[in-house]
Amino acid sequence: MMIAQAQPFVMLAPARHDRAECPVCGSAGLSHGGALCPHEAEPWHEEAEALAFEIRHTASPRLSTMLSLDLEELVARNLDRAH
Ligand SMILES: [Zn+2]
Repeated sequence: MMIAQAQPFVMLAPARHDRAECPVCGSAGLSHGGALCPHEAEPWHEEAEALAFEIRHTASPRLSTMLSLDLEELVARNLDRAH
């Protein structure tokens, strides 16, 4: 009998890792300059961070869903533009 082993995949990367995904916009992070995300300094990213913060802290599942949609849209819009 085979037992499927769960392989925990840790998304949050400590600063010492070379590559990490930005927890806010999902971009592959670059740690060369010490920045987790290549978009970190952009104004839209600050907005996205604020949304991500709200998502983590709201007690309302409905609000959380709406905020997630807002965040997805904001990130998609700005990452598209960056291409
Ligand atoms: Zn980011």
